[in-house]
Amino acid sequence: MTKTRSHRSESLIRKNRWTMVAATAAVSAAIIAACGPKSDQGKASTPQSPSPATQAAQPQREPAPAVAQANKVEETTLNKVGLDQTAMDTKANPCQDFYQYACGGWVARTKIPADRTRWMRSFSEIYKRNEQALKTILETASSKKQTNPIMDKIGRFYKACMDEKVVEQAGLKPLKPLLKAIRRVRSRSSLAKAIMLLHKHRIWALFDIGATQDFKDATKMIVGLDQNGLGLPDRGYYIRKGAKADAIRKKYVQHVAAMLKLSGLSQRAATRGAKAVMKIETQIATISKTRVQRRDPKGIYNKVDRVGLKKLMPSFSWASYFKALGYPHLTQITVTSVPFFKGIEKLLHQTKANQWRVYLLWQLLHRMANALPKAFVQEHFKLVQALTGQKVQRARWKRCVSMTDGALGELLAQPYVQQHFTVQARQNARHLIMAISDAFAQRLTELAWMDQATKKSAAIKLHKMAYLIGFPSKWRHYDYAITGTFAANVLAAKASDLQWKLGQVGKPVDRTLWEMTPPTVNAYYEPTKNQMVFPAGILQPPFYDPKAAVAVNLGGMGMVVGHELTHGFDDQGSQFNADGTLANWWTANVSKKFKVRTGCIVHEFGTYQAVPGVKLNGKLTAGENIADLGGVTLAFRAYRALRAKAAKHLRANGFNEDQMFFLAVAQVWCSKVRPAMARLRARTDPHSPPRWRVNGTLRNVPAFAKAFSCHKGTFMNPNKICQVW
Ligand SMILES: [Zn+2]
Repeated sequence: MTKTRSHRSESLIRKNRWTMVAATAAVSAAIIAACGPKSDQGKASTPQSPSPATQAAQPQREPAPAVAQANKVEETTLNKVGLDQTAMDTKANPCQDFYQYACGGWVARTKIPADRTRWMRSFSEIYKRNEQALKTILETASSKKQTNPIMDKIGRFYKACMDEKVVEQAGLKPLKPLLKAIRRVRSRSSLAKAIMLLHKHRIWALFDIGATQDFKDATKMIVGLDQNGLGLPDRGYYIRKGAKADAIRKKYVQHVAAMLKLSGLSQRAATRGAKAVMKIETQIATISKTRVQRRDPKGIYNKVDRVGLKKLMPSFSWASYFKALGYPHLTQITVTSVPFFKGIEKLLHQTKANQWRVYLLWQLLHRMANALPKAFVQEHFKLVQALTGQKVQRARWKRCVSMTDGALGELLAQPYVQQHFTVQARQNARHLIMAISDAFAQRLTELAWMDQATKKSAAIKLHKMAYLIGFPSKWRHYDYAITGTFAANVLAAKASDLQWKLGQVGKPVDRTLWEMTPPTVNAYYEPTKNQMVFPAGILQPPFYDPKAAVAVNLGGMGMVVGHELTHGFDDQGSQFNADGTLANWWTANVSKKFKVRTGCIVHEFGTYQAVPGVKLNGKLTAGENIADLGGVTLAFRAYRALRAKAAKHLRANGFNEDQMFFLAVAQVWCSKVRPAMARLRARTDPHSPPRWRVNGTLRNVPAFAKAFSCHKGTFMNPNKICQVW
């Protein structure tokens, strides 16, 4: 799917949301106490306690020394400091292909599970652990009557999802009111009515609606209207030329027809209907902005009032639309693209009622498929398979865990953080954030390309950058009833989510809201709030392990923190000020120099291949590549500062601490991906593939070349490098 929000949070990795048709998560109010204290505060250290080098990072405020070299050396092993020696391929040359050197062994021995499209040493292993933990919680919650209202609610949602028999019996009955409205489409007014009803349940035909921060005023929430309405993952799928693209389109049309037929249409009507769907969606794709265009915050901010909106799409009854959603008086609106909504107006004139009926029916079936009987689920999976190469469907319980997380994320998170998140983990994260922040402050003073005025503004932005760790300070409520019918629950969850979002419009921005649920193995930076968020899910090994060496923790979690912090200063984040308002804080000259530096990254990454024949999109991945480069640079400096006064230095199987740091960075990204998924990601994912997140980043880091004594001119130590932060 296209992103439903008109502004974007920058996350560490991308979740492939379009494959999940269930309700999405979001957040709100009610306080619970902090998680169970498992802090080892006050415990005396024992003779077996880790050496000073392996203790949790403590923030220090002195500048990074030039070289960290203590005289005394303590011999240890890679496995003891938190690295995986067996993941390496020591036959590879670290100066030619460091990713292969650090991950080659892991790549050779790892098989992608049949129900997955990729597997990563860090993210996927933790995800699997978390998935099991959530399963245990949900099985407990659904196995017997619960007195705790949270356990009761998540238990009943999960149980209804797992009850395939009832799902089969219900068939399409839960969709009845929506199907009826679609069948009644005869005129423009009945079309508007059907769209309203679909949108009320977050079935985004043609476009979508939500609440967004006013880019020009970081204290205000307004309505955001965004392009949407496609069934394939990106506009390019409809437009691209060539045999591969043709083959996918052919499969897609067959799939649409199969879904329509399952819903009761005759073969003939389904085949004809699928063609109409393809025609409408191709027109929507043509007027949609590209992902690169959508990276321009100024371009996706177009404030209109209701009169302005009426001018864009005069044939659509906006008054009835807002009334039906329950918010008749909303007037402060931004649209992500003026030409898009003008294009939809044209489409309203060109398309016949019977074509609209079939398009809306398809959108409903497509977006609800995973909540419907088996025949729909299986047919939907065929499309997923064609696009991603996934071999088998994930087990039902796994899908139900995901869908419960999507629908009731902040309820499910409460027992999760009570059982699996510690005060210590939060403290560790806080220490790392301070260490990285200090490294950035220090780095700012050294940047020759920046003038004093801009440095001062950057320092203010850094100082104001907020961070949220673990889980939200107040939990969201979910005000809808859970029944025994799964599809009805999913619809209720979606409807409630939209109401909750639109309820924020006109109110002050709530900076305590989260965009990810706490068990998520990811992190993000939100430019409109100047805020970094680290869910409980990611604060565990191999990203952070209290038993691991400082160099390894900084190469793992430190790099993650540095990555998110740098997003505040990447090609997008740099356009928002310290409060999160879209405003220029750069002097013209420095701004020009910044563009040259980011241009270097755009060009360089544009030369790398995702899979043979598909190059990375340098512009699409620019923000993430800048963040990766800045993240490693800052984490390295922070690690050096933390170890500056160490009495002893570690040597693990002959590797010094600098080398351990870079091995840790690389081993976070050890991954395997199915070729179809690699192609899909190259076109839609703003992140570079793991190999380039390692090699593409580290070849621009002089400290790396030094650590591994790479000669000038080797791949990992090129003659010309790109540097931003
Ligand atoms: Zn990122």
